Amino acid sequence: MKIFKLPSPVEELKSDFLSNKRVQLWIKRDDLIHTEVSGNKWRKLKYNIEEARNKNYKRILTFGGAYSNHIAATAVVGKLFNVETIGVIRGDEGFENKTLLKAREDGMKLHFVSRSAYRQKNEPDFIECLKEKFGKFYLVPEGGANDLGVKGCEEILRETEANYDFIAVAAGTGTTASGIYKSMKAGMLMVFPALKGGEFLLEEIKKHESAIEIDLQANYHFGGYGKTKPDQLAFMQEFQSQYSIELDKIYTSKLFFGLFDLIKKNYFSQGSKILVIHTGGLQGN
Ligand SMILES: *Cc1c(COP(=O)(O)O)cnc(C)c1O
Repeated sequence: MKIFKLPSPVEELKSDFLSNKRVQLWIKRDDLIHTEVSGNKWRKLKYNIEEARNKNYKRILTFGGAYSNHIAATAVVGKLFNVETIGVIRGDEGFENKTLLKAREDGMKLHFVSRSAYRQKNEPDFIECLKEKFGKFYLVPEGGANDLGVKGCEEILRETEANYDFIAVAAGTGTTASGIYKSMKAGMLMVFPALKGGEFLLEEIKKHESAIEIDLQANYHFGGYGKTKPDQLAFMQEFQSQYSIELDKIYTSKLFFGLFDLIKKNYFSQGSKILVIHTGGLQGN
C-alpha cells in the first residue's frame, strides 16, 4: 500500500494526428505514482508529512470541498504514515459521497463547515477555534498549497532529462505549476487552469524565482471548477480508447483537450517537443 512508484515513467504518445502535425508529445505519468493518492497530491504532501512527523505532530488538519482529491489523498497518506487526519469540509453536516466515505474509511475525521466559515480558513481566530476543538495539529492549507508543497513539485522535472520546448500542466491553486516553474531550465511553461478566471494564477506562479516564460491558457475551463461540457467528456472517452490512458474530469481532460485543440490549430511549430504532466486525479472518476 505504501508503495509510491517513483520516479514516475515518461511515455511518448504516438498517433497519426501527432505525426501529421509534426509535434512530439510525452506524458509524465504522475497518475501512476499511487492508486489512491493522486499523483501531484503526493508530491505536495510529501514534505508536509515529513515536517509534521519531524516535529512530532500526532495529527494533520487540512481543508477541502466534498469532492477534493487533496482530502482523499491526505486521508490515505495519514493512514500510511500513522498520523491522524482531520478534514475541514465545505458543506452540510451529513453530506456523503464516495470521496468522503472513503476518506472516513481511511480514518479521517470530517468536520463540516458552512461556506462562510470555510472562507475564514486562513484566519488565525478560526484556526485557534479548530485547535480548541481538535487539539494541536499540523496545518496543511487547502490543496496542499504551501512552500513545502511547491518543494515536492520541484521534483517532477528533476526526475526527467528535461529537454522539451514546452511543459504543459493543469492548475487549481498553481502549486504544482510553481514547482515546475522553479525547476525548469529551458522551454516554455504552459498552464491550463481548471477554473474560470484563472488569469490570477500567472502572478501566483511568478512569485517564485525563475527565468522561464509562462503561457497561460485560461480559456479551457469548460464553465469553471468542477464543471464539464459534453465535448470535453467525449474527448476524454476518445483519448482513453485511442491511447489507453485515463484522464479525469476536473483537470487533465481540460488540459489535454486544450493542448490538442492548440495542436490542431497549428499553435506549435513543426518539430516541437512537448511534455505533459499527468497529475492524476483518477480517484474522482
Ligand atoms: C489538485 C489537482 C491539480 C491542481 O494542482 P494545483 O497544484 O492545485 O494547481 C491538477 N491535477 C489534478 C489531477 C489534481 O488532482
